[in-house]
Amino acid sequence: MKCGECGATITPEYHKKFYKRTNRLAEYYMYRCTKKLGPCSQRYLSQAEVGNQLRKLVLDVAIPVAWIPRWLKLLDEHEVIEKQNQEANIQRLEEDEKVVEQKLNLLLDSYLDGVIDQESYKSKKNELFERKLKTQEKISQVRLNGSSWLEPFREFMNVAKNGAKIARAKNNCEELASFAKNIGSNFFLTNRHLSADYKLGFNTLFSELSRSTRTRARLPDFLCERDTRIELASHPWEGRILPLYESRISSF
Ligand SMILES: [Zn+2]
Repeated sequence: MKCGECGATITPEYHKKFYKRTNRLAEYYMYRCTKKLGPCSQRYLSQAEVGNQLRKLVLDVAIPVAWIPRWLKLLDEHEVIEKQNQEANIQRLEEDEKVVEQKLNLLLDSYLDGVIDQESYKSKKNELFERKLKTQEKISQVRLNGSSWLEPFREFMNVAKNGAKIARAKNNCEELASFAKNIGSNFFLTNRHLSADYKLGFNTLFSELSRSTRTRARLPDFLCERDTRIELASHPWEGRILPLYESRISSF
């Protein structure tokens, strides 16, 4: 975390307090700006409060549990479609390659039979050769990238689906911090308020989930309600929620 006022690093500071009446030693951390970059007016924030705000940031992009089976089903269906498309593309390109190969043979025959002169033979041969190389390149590209978006999407799903569980668990600061790094960056503490930039995919989840919450009556515990009841006005696979894969998802 950085300080939103001066940009210096935020650091945890150890404190302890002894309560005579109950004979108890309380130990805790307060987060504060190191003020190493100059004067700064920002004040301390307790570890518990930082934790709560971080949990809120995570919960704000937690995929409702009810969506997950539908998203995974969609992903499986797409995997099959992508594979079919990939195979069809490769087949078409291999046909092209065969045609060029035949033309090259025909050209050589024509040259050997004296039908065409050396100059024309060379120029046409180069042209066909270039076409053949390009087709071969395309084939390897399709083989390599045919469904390259599926894996990142599956990873995104695997990260996102654990958000709610991690945010609601107790005493899991390390897990929470590591999860937060996966979904966001630029964590700033300003006037005791923690903010962050969501990473690609999560930023869309955030705006979509906020929109869905805004359009409905405020619920006392809307974060819990999300898991069981709230449905988006439009489903995520209708093309609005995944900017990473927009061009492919938009076919839905
Ligand atoms: Zn500061």
